[in-house]
Amino acid sequence: MSRVKGSTLLNRHAFIQENFGLDAWDMVLASLRDGDARLLSPRILASAWYPFDLYNRLDEAMCQVLTGGDLEICRTLGVDSARRALSGTYRAYLKDGAEAILRRLAVLHRSFYDSGSMDVTHLGPGHCVIRAVYVPRSSLTNCLVAEGFYRTVVEMSGGREVQVSEGNCSAHGTRFCLFNVRWEDAVTAHPPA
Ligand SMILES: [Zn+2]
Repeated sequence: MSRVKGSTLLNRHAFIQENFGLDAWDMVLASLRDGDARLLSPRILASAWYPFDLYNRLDEAMCQVLTGGDLEICRTLGVDSARRALSGTYRAYLKDGAEAILRRLAVLHRSFYDSGSMDVTHLGPGHCVIRAVYVPRSSLTNCLVAEGFYRTVVEMSGGREVQVSEGNCSAHGTRFCLFNVRWEDAVTAHPPA
């Protein structure tokens, strides 16, 4: 069974409490099946591994309980997760620019998922394609989080007019997920006079 690092779940805990109130996390937990809720309480360990299925069910529960099933909250969670990562542990990466930071994230993929992979292909200025393999497959919620995450990473490293779209998604049966990431580089788009 594929697993994710506890730190990804702690991001969700912080996001939910900060945006929906202290009781919101408990409401989401209460909506989960008993076995899932027991794994997430009384606390989540940042360095422990948790089932990928549980992580997906938590995101689905978050949508159902907090936004009446609106999955858009997953993109917002991705934005929030990127801001947390890049204002904390990975802050130093920002100075290297968007393409470099996406490549570093690909290397870090195995720090957060114990299986699968992520690779980045640079297609030209302000254009990368990210290929992500999730085992056994991704979920709609996971990829919406990823879209918000990638967009924010590029924005925080200086990209403008950032667009992230997913062409293939393994949640729909393809072997991997393919994200197209485009942006205007602030430096090359507006060179100093
Ligand atoms: Zn996908």
